[in-house]
Amino acid sequence: MNSSRPFLHPDAGSPLACDGVRLDTLAKKYGTPLYVYSANQILERLRLFTQAFQPVPHLVCYAVKANSSLAILKLLAKHGAGFDIVSGGELERVLRVSQEAAERVVFSGVGKTAPEMDLALRSGILLFNVESAGELELLAERASKLRIRARVSLRVNPDVFAETHPYISTGLREHKFGIDIREARKVYKSAARQKYLEPYGVSVHIGSQIRSADPFGAAAERIARLVQELRADGLSIRVVDVGGGLGIEYHREHSFDPEQKVRQYASALLKALRPLKELQLLLEPGRFIVAQAGALLTRVLYVKKNGKKTFVITDAAMNDLIRPALYQAHHEIIPVVPRKGARKRTVDVVGPVCETGDFFARDRSMPELQPGDLAAILDAGAYGLSLSSNYNSRPRPAEVLVEGTRHRLIRKRETIDDLLAAEMP
Ligand SMILES: *Cc1c(COP(=O)(O)O)cnc(C)c1O
Repeated sequence: MNSSRPFLHPDAGSPLACDGVRLDTLAKKYGTPLYVYSANQILERLRLFTQAFQPVPHLVCYAVKANSSLAILKLLAKHGAGFDIVSGGELERVLRVSQEAAERVVFSGVGKTAPEMDLALRSGILLFNVESAGELELLAERASKLRIRARVSLRVNPDVFAETHPYISTGLREHKFGIDIREARKVYKSAARQKYLEPYGVSVHIGSQIRSADPFGAAAERIARLVQELRADGLSIRVVDVGGGLGIEYHREHSFDPEQKVRQYASALLKALRPLKELQLLLEPGRFIVAQAGALLTRVLYVKKNGKKTFVITDAAMNDLIRPALYQAHHEIIPVVPRKGARKRTVDVVGPVCETGDFFARDRSMPELQPGDLAAILDAGAYGLSLSSNYNSRPRPAEVLVEGTRHRLIRKRETIDDLLAAEMP
């Protein structure tokens, strides 16, 4: 099996499958739009990280926000992963699938509230990634109130530029994230004075969908220097959290070797951090673990022409998968059942939502699709359902997990009753 591509036509002319399961079978059983994930692919990607970082003590803390479905968290927890969370809600999700995984949780995010801190302290999480002096002050207050020591790491902003979409670049001084690396020593000193805070690590996260290893190496070099200074100041820094952000290839015509990508990433980081002894490395990949494990399965409702343009209107929309609208992201779209001798046509693939931004592809040359046909929008496992909404009062899709030749529903399709449950007319 080609482990880098779970969604393939088993042979020319047969329907697209996820590992051993045909997508037309899934559409018939569960309806559309439908998110489909390959468990094998998720575990394979996790293994690439543990393998590449095997030379050093490390923990992969999967970034929950990329795909926070309980079944996926449970699968990862069972295979030893930790978790990077950015809210109390994400912590509740982790606890729901594994109480013991709490000790492998790192808590990131610029706006943690007191109740979220209390929950994390009581749960005994591994590490708080603190993003401002104000947050440090509140954490010290909550920790001493509860008499629970908090291990802290400052998320420093290394002022490193990483080539990616501006909305998901985070490592420059002008971004809201982290503490200026030049201020960090001072803030660590104030943390060290607090009885219930334990300066424990240094963290960084420079952005998402970064495809070159170089900016990760550059950030890690700056972090390594800071760790040496902090240790010279007498602090016992035990971990470096290098964040997530490793990118994938969304275009099928470009070659992509995930194993090689992770190896290059590991070698850039390990080289930069080599001067540091007795260190545990924390990694927070999100997208790289789940993106290519998932597809959004959709059915074509209509095909219409407006002037020179042809629009393929699908039953999935921007509320289900917002990446094209939000980041001008590219997703491959392929017909599930290949039509013999189908011509290619240049079309826009769009959803039913009342927004011109509701598209999955624009002026895309692809095999002809007709009303009733199924299509798979690939690489939708990350920032798909987790970024979905009910815009236009559309219930969210169901989710299915494929485990080899078996499949199971891991999230029911929402109903209108679910949508209206919290409202008081
Ligand atoms: C979003 C995020 C991640 C994961 O980013 P990916 O690009 O999905 O790997 C990791 N760490 C932090 C702090 C994040 O905000």
